[in-house]
Amino acid sequence: MRFFYIETYGCQMNKADSNAIINELLENDYIQVDDYNNADIIIINTCSVRITAENRIWGRLGFYKNQKKKKNIVIVIVGCMAQRLGNDFFKFNDTVDIVIGTYQKDNIANILRNYGHDKKIAYIEEKQIKFSNSFPDRDNSKKAFVTISHGCNNFCSYCIVPYVRGREISRSSNEIINDINNLAAKGVIQVTLLGQNVNSYGSENNDISFNELLKRISRETDIKWIKFLSSHPKDFNDDLIEVVAEEGKVANWIHLALQSGSNNVLKKMNRKYTIESFMEKVEKLKRYIPKINLTTDIIVGFPGETENDYLDTYNSLKQIRFDDAYMYKYNIRENTFAQNNYIDDIPEEEKTDRLTQIIDLQRSITRENKINRINDQFEVISECFSKKSENEILGLTKEDLMIIYNGDNSCFLSINKIKAVRLEGNTLYGEKI
Ligand code: SF4
Repeated sequence: MRFFYIETYGCQMNKADSNAIINELLENDYIQVDDYNNADIIIINTCSVRITAENRIWGRLGFYKNQKKKKNIVIVIVGCMAQRLGNDFFKFNDTVDIVIGTYQKDNIANILRNYGHDKKIAYIEEKQIKFSNSFPDRDNSKKAFVTISHGCNNFCSYCIVPYVRGREISRSSNEIINDINNLAAKGVIQVTLLGQNVNSYGSENNDISFNELLKRISRETDIKWIKFLSSHPKDFNDDLIEVVAEEGKVANWIHLALQSGSNNVLKKMNRKYTIESFMEKVEKLKRYIPKINLTTDIIVGFPGETENDYLDTYNSLKQIRFDDAYMYKYNIRENTFAQNNYIDDIPEEEKTDRLTQIIDLQRSITRENKINRINDQFEVISECFSKKSENEILGLTKEDLMIIYNGDNSCFLSINKIKAVRLEGNTLYGEKI
């Protein structure tokens, strides 16, 4: 049993976890394959944040059940769904052989080595989190994810994350600096610092604050671009806005999850900020960084969300004019405060209507904001050739915007300077300067 295939669902944190799993296995002489037909171990890194994400996994397991009939393969489930269900996974699905929770993923090579084919087994015991060193992204070696904290203390009432990833633990700042220096030495240009709430980094272990961490990374490493995910509005302070504005290496991209524009709903969500305080931060961000790329998350149809609450969200989007947004309908997650205390009373049709309306609104704002970027100049790293042509390159700007431009293999060597010249559909097109 040597050849493994991994598929990853969910957030960037899961991508980073998959990278760590891949490297742990490679270091232990396992071989990664790009085609599941050539694997004898299939690893699925799962997400529990939305019911739709879990349903996809059940669908994939149906697919692998058929594969298993053709070939002797071991199916391993890791990630949040593994932690949430543990041994119950085997009750719901007989295709899975091994379940490895969020605390045990660094043990995967050992677990596989000791696995006897005759039994099904779950490893979900909580233990001290070990932060792994980071590696260049397999799809683009100029980028890397760097996990700076694990877990979350916020208990937003709809969210399952604190139950499957535990309380927040921050990685030592010195370890992070060393990790990033090693990445820079390998040619990485961009790091994305990851945590469920990066802004509260260091608060539980008396290490430096997140703002100080950004400054140290800027000044003590050779990395060129620093991005971070996710920020929580209650901990996103004014000083951080100044750090982002003043530290040249910190990208002008902020993902700040609003979730709702109604104070009633924000309170029930346990978000601990008001729409007014959120607006103040946005106003300051735009004043200090006029070209900021500001993105967000929105949930509609939260229990008890009235038409007026929903309109508050709609009007907030109109007023703030985010550059982009991830928008969802509320769905119940097991054992959360919202499930135990609120009735999921907004009819599905109404949720869909509200979602459709905000998606339409945000699409037009996203487009208008992109039109306003025509003639702007960007630093860009090349991601891949565009699907349409081998002479066109899909790149990522320092502000985390996608842009297409003419180029060849040489563009992949370093940072390109690109001027945006037009918008086609929702895609920015540029030219090399
Ligand atoms: S901040 Fe809230 S939404 Fe984000 S992971 Fe923590 S509990 Fe979930």
